[in-house]
Amino acid sequence: MAGLDIVTVRTPTANCYLVRGKVSYLVDTNTPRGGKRVMGAIAGSGMKPDDVRYILITHYHYDHTGNLAELKRASGARVAAGVADAEVIAGRKPPAGPGDISPAGRLLRKLPASLLERYQHFDPCEVDLVLRDGDVLEELGLEVLELPGHTEGGVAYYHGEEKLAFIGDMVSNILNRPGPPFLSFSYDKKAILGSMRRLAELDLEYAYPGHGAVIGPGAAAKIGSLAERLASRWGLT
Ligand SMILES: [Zn+2]
Repeated sequence: MAGLDIVTVRTPTANCYLVRGKVSYLVDTNTPRGGKRVMGAIAGSGMKPDDVRYILITHYHYDHTGNLAELKRASGARVAAGVADAEVIAGRKPPAGPGDISPAGRLLRKLPASLLERYQHFDPCEVDLVLRDGDVLEELGLEVLELPGHTEGGVAYYHGEEKLAFIGDMVSNILNRPGPPFLSFSYDKKAILGSMRRLAELDLEYAYPGHGAVIGPGAAAKIGSLAERLASRWGLT
C-alpha cells in the first residue's frame, strides 16, 4: 500500500483526503455539511488546523469546495486549483451548471437557475496557487495534470514516487466499480476519455477518487479499460 499517510474523510456523497507528513495537506474539502468531519479528522490526527499547509482542490464543484473558505481561514493554508476553475472558486465566475451530454443533465438544465445555484452553492475563496498542466508542487512531491471534461479546470495531483494520484471526479469508484464522472455535471465526453487515457498512461497503482473507494492496485490499467469500454459505449474512439 502507498507510503503516504492518507486519511480519507468521507461523507455519504463525497471523499476528501488529509495527507499527514512533514508538510500536511488536504485534497478537497467535502460538501458544505461535511465541515465537522474534516475538522474532526484533523483533530483526530493530533493536528491543529494550522498544521494543514496546503489545500489542493481537484475541481470547483460544491462537494469538493464546501468548507474551503472556512478551512482556509482556520488553517492559513495556501489554496491551489486549476487555472480554469480558479475564477469559479473565487466567486468571480458562475459555475457552469448541468451539461448537455446526458439525458439527466438536459433535464436539470430546465430547472430554474436559482434552484441550481442554491444546490451548487459554496462560499467563494481566493486561490493562492493557480495551477497549469505540468506544474510541480515540489514540497509535496506532486505533479499537476489538467483533466478537462468534467469541469474545464479539473486537475489531478500525481505523486510519481508513490505511484498514486488524487483524481477528483474523473473516475469514480462507487461500490468498487470504476465509472465516469457524473455526466449530468460534465460537459464533454471526448475530453473525459482523453483525461482518463492520460491517467491510464501514468505509472499509477492507486487512484484516490472524489466518490467511492480507492482504485488499485493496478489503477492505470483499470482506468484504461474503463476508457475503452466507455469509448465503445459512447461511439467515440
Ligand atoms: Zn464534480
